Amino acid sequence: MSYRVLIRSHAWFLGICIAAGVICGAQAQNKMLLEDASLIIGDGSVLTNHDVLIEDGLIVSLGENLPPPDTGLVVDLQGKWVMPALIDAHAHLGFQSRQSWGADNYELENLTDNLEQYAYYGFGAVFSAGSDPAEIAQLLAATVRRRKNLPEFLYAAGLAPPGEGPNNQFLEQTSQVQARTGYQVLYGVTDPESARQTVTDLALKGFEFLKIWVDDRGGSQTKLAPEIYRAVAQHAGEAGLKVFVHQQSASDMQDLISAGVDGFLHGRIGRDFTDELIERAVQSDVFVIPNLGLGELRREAIGEDQFLTPFLSQGLRESLSASERRQVHPERDATNESELIAGFARIEVGGLDLVLGTDAGAVPGHPFGYTGHRELEIYVRLGMSPMDALRSATSLAAKHLGLRGLGLLEPGKQASLLILNSDPTSDIRNTRDIHSVYLNGQPVDRSAIASRTP
Ligand SMILES: [Zn+2]
Repeated sequence: MSYRVLIRSHAWFLGICIAAGVICGAQAQNKMLLEDASLIIGDGSVLTNHDVLIEDGLIVSLGENLPPPDTGLVVDLQGKWVMPALIDAHAHLGFQSRQSWGADNYELENLTDNLEQYAYYGFGAVFSAGSDPAEIAQLLAATVRRRKNLPEFLYAAGLAPPGEGPNNQFLEQTSQVQARTGYQVLYGVTDPESARQTVTDLALKGFEFLKIWVDDRGGSQTKLAPEIYRAVAQHAGEAGLKVFVHQQSASDMQDLISAGVDGFLHGRIGRDFTDELIERAVQSDVFVIPNLGLGELRREAIGEDQFLTPFLSQGLRESLSASERRQVHPERDATNESELIAGFARIEVGGLDLVLGTDAGAVPGHPFGYTGHRELEIYVRLGMSPMDALRSATSLAAKHLGLRGLGLLEPGKQASLLILNSDPTSDIRNTRDIHSVYLNGQPVDRSAIASRTP
């Protein structure tokens, strides 16, 4: 490792660690002191020259010159930046592998690999938005609880008119997962009464989140009717379930907020995203995910980005490199860009909670983890401060997903940390400059994860 690791006692343990060639201390030792770093708390503040004391996977205290533990690991992080692990509040796990995209990949092994990819990129939690059967999602969540060095996995039941919901390409793949596994992924609702019954069934099945699609997909699908989503949202609220929405236009958002939904997975932050709408969303404590990289990165030659290449098989790298469809620097529509900049400014003034989400995995070649870092870059390009972009990916995402142990560096939170070599608050692209990642106090072996790409 490139940094100094000191064992204050139990010197024999250092020998074992060096022999194994990894930082094994944190796995065996339940105490660890990270010394002398700049701490990005996650709420917009920074503490310089501070230490973090970790015990049993939790942050115990933050302070200057904390005494080292009697036993355990001391890590010198002078000049480094420690922040809470990132959170992606909109993804679809299981379909994308390191080689291909589709229903055939939807297996526990690939789902776990997707989470490892997120861990590599410094993520501590991910929300998969309505494309997972409960039976398999529960197995994955149990794997996370057992291993502890994987990001937390949250999932939702997907509700839409029968046989509809996801984009047509993704719909076909989710249907194939249903057919192959025999487990239900999408839940069709036809009227308020069936919607209420479905919500009850889903609550009993253990779901904590519902995802609804309110979109006619350019006339190819039926749009979920207001009386149905109102019944879903009302009954979900009573049952303690959160409802997140895929919506196509800002004009639907007012009524969805009135219905009682908790957040929007696609921002639609254009001209229609008015001050009035922002005010309404703030009053109801509803969050918005702009989800801009999904459209933007598919025109970019991301296969040539060295931050991504560790996860691309040769075939995938070629398909994502420069071609007729993908340029290294794709042009952006100036009108659209200025509308987005104006929208971001209105959001900042209005105080709306903007949350990081990527829709990674919903379409081929929109990779896990990598796209989160790119999304943050987009926020900053559109006028957000780097610090606010980091808040959207940490404390705000944790708040709206109900992840009480994540999103902030403070005593009692999980020691799920992204440690950077350079300051992301001066240049958001420094989130790429990863020194190390810890999840629940355990080091993530990033090179081992990357080395498994075929
Ligand atoms: Zn999605």
